[in-house]
Amino acid sequence: MAFKTVLLYPPIADFTQPHPAIPYLAGFLRKQGENVIIKDINIEAHDTLLSEQFLMTCQQMIESKFNQLDNQPFLNLSEHSQYESLMKGLGVDSSIISNIENIKQQFKDPDHFYNYERYEKNVEDLKQALQIISSAYHPMKIEPCEYSTPYFLTCPEDIEEQCKVGINPLYSYYQKHLIPWIQQESPDLIGFSATYPTQILQMFALADLIRNHFPDIHLCAGGAFICRIALQIPQDKHSMLFFKYLDSIILYEGETALFNLIQHLKSNKANHAMGNTILYDRKTSQIYYPSDQTFLEDMDSIPPPDYDGYPLHLYLSPEIVLPYAPTRGCYWNRCAFCHYGATQKGTLKYREKKVEQIIADLDHLNQKYDTNHFSFSVDVILPETVLAIAEEIIRNKRSYLWTTDIKVDDFFTKQNCMTLKKGGCLSVAIGLESANQRILKLMDKGISKDQAQKCICNLSHAGISTQVMTFLNFPTETASEALETIQFIQHHMADISLFTMGDFILHEGAKIYRSPQKYGIARVYYLNHDQLKLLVQYDEKWPSKTQSENVKIDSAYEDIAMQYVPQDFPFVGGVSNNHTLLYFERFGKNILKQVNVDTQNYDIKTFRPQDIPIIRPEIKAISTNYCLSELADVIESNIYSLDQTIQNRNSIDTSVKTYPHKTMYLLIESMNWMETPQEAKFLLGMCNGKNTLQDIVNSIDPNAWNVVSSLLNNLYAYKILDIKP
Ligand code: SF4
Repeated sequence: MAFKTVLLYPPIADFTQPHPAIPYLAGFLRKQGENVIIKDINIEAHDTLLSEQFLMTCQQMIESKFNQLDNQPFLNLSEHSQYESLMKGLGVDSSIISNIENIKQQFKDPDHFYNYERYEKNVEDLKQALQIISSAYHPMKIEPCEYSTPYFLTCPEDIEEQCKVGINPLYSYYQKHLIPWIQQESPDLIGFSATYPTQILQMFALADLIRNHFPDIHLCAGGAFICRIALQIPQDKHSMLFFKYLDSIILYEGETALFNLIQHLKSNKANHAMGNTILYDRKTSQIYYPSDQTFLEDMDSIPPPDYDGYPLHLYLSPEIVLPYAPTRGCYWNRCAFCHYGATQKGTLKYREKKVEQIIADLDHLNQKYDTNHFSFSVDVILPETVLAIAEEIIRNKRSYLWTTDIKVDDFFTKQNCMTLKKGGCLSVAIGLESANQRILKLMDKGISKDQAQKCICNLSHAGISTQVMTFLNFPTETASEALETIQFIQHHMADISLFTMGDFILHEGAKIYRSPQKYGIARVYYLNHDQLKLLVQYDEKWPSKTQSENVKIDSAYEDIAMQYVPQDFPFVGGVSNNHTLLYFERFGKNILKQVNVDTQNYDIKTFRPQDIPIIRPEIKAISTNYCLSELADVIESNIYSLDQTIQNRNSIDTSVKTYPHKTMYLLIESMNWMETPQEAKFLLGMCNGKNTLQDIVNSIDPNAWNVVSSLLNNLYAYKILDIKP
């Protein structure tokens, strides 16, 4: 029987568009005649989790866990946050569960997708559906493109935790759908591609499950994030971390390495060092490391990504926007903070395809998958190349629309930007990082503030949406330097379609990690519990900002942020994503500033004495044995102890106990419980649609008009009470 390879893309990642890593491998291997099946478990698992049946099961779990906790004689410290999370789950509008298929469908329907009010509501509902899952599986938390546990990946036990049934919400999908599918396909090799940290725990959980069911299948992992952690984690930890689950790891780029691995497995010789691959011999427990020399793919020999096998109809988008990589690596590769892609340090060496080949690939993808939308999946593309692509598109009279990442450059003149626009460029993401000249120089960005300003302006005037990426707190950055970046965004808001402003993160493969002193860093270290040494910590030689300066910076940031749609990957407002791109296309480059007008209509009406207050029928009231604000106070004053509890799972601090305190809650909007004194029960009972406000005051105390009417008016403002028509 022919050797069969299955490639899996693990959760949790973007559910609005496919990721190209596995389709690139599939395209390459299939061209070599290999039998390859690909599966995007991320989208399939999301589709199963976000189903009526699964959400109903979660809701039942929430109710049963809540009842159990609520009836305990006391709550210990770790139960406090679970109680809070369960209350959130109880507060989700349950109609979302029965409507979930419709909500997903509306993301795919242009009429609903491009109606921002509708879109916003659907995003909110989708997040609430995920909250139901998070509450049922607390302390695990699942959000759009995010999967977090308090344990993260700091020791091998964190991974083992994820492999336990009952801890991981995706287990039932794996067991019911994936395992029978693997049984049926019966592959010889299964490969996982983990590009993002959010996929790593699920990838190990999957590998563990597959290993237990099919011990003879060779399990291999690759992808940018796997490459980085495999290079970063000390080799003496490799066997207990990686090879408890896997048989091989592909470092760096994977096409040729995976092809070679398949050939070795076919000939039963997979027990020696191979290029770009760490191999584990399960029989002898020997690990074979590759030679120091790594190899990079020749772009001209890489076929276009082959998405056959990916369920393109499941992604939550009205248009398929296909990722495609005309280039790999970065032509600059000097920025001090940068460590990006499957490489040991900095970025991968820059390579590009011939422009004619790029157009031929786009033609191929356009015909095969019936789309003219592409996102160029690049580190950063040379200005000359991106212009040549646009010119070739114009020359060949294609109607392709695309987005890409660029670096500020004088090459982006008015004329060249007009050509880009004509050649289908809808949007560009620009890594500006800072608008302060000293910081730009220290980072070695190779650009000036003036150049950035001209480049952004030329692109914008040509009608191209500009997504400007910045971050604060590069070591030694002073408050005035940070404010300069904020002011730059503010000053050029007319030409900036969207911006991001993150925080500096120190990566092990970055130049700054290798020479911290040069950048004002006194000490680089890891936290004690971070056994795998993945989260780099650092101390500056001296603090570059005071607390009050930070407050000022936060407030300046808020002022500009509130003028745009809130940033929320992978939804409209997130940088470099499918939904944002489609909004730019439909509504133009300023849409994210226009839809953010405040449409809230504050109801400032108050009851008149003859009005009849009535409790709104949708208001849910519950009585609980524990008081949420009391639990929140305990958590806040024991935050260190709670951290310790999480890190040392077996040593829960039993000295912290909270005892029952009966409280009433009104659900004023989804997930938002309003704490209400038990005494208010009587007052609300009188708002039954029979009594006027005057009747209610009279029956309580005719002298208490001010107190009672203001209380009822507050409940009216919160939309708990209404006036009986
Ligand atoms: S930040 Fe961008 S331009 Fe700078 S090295 Fe990294 S990928 Fe290249």
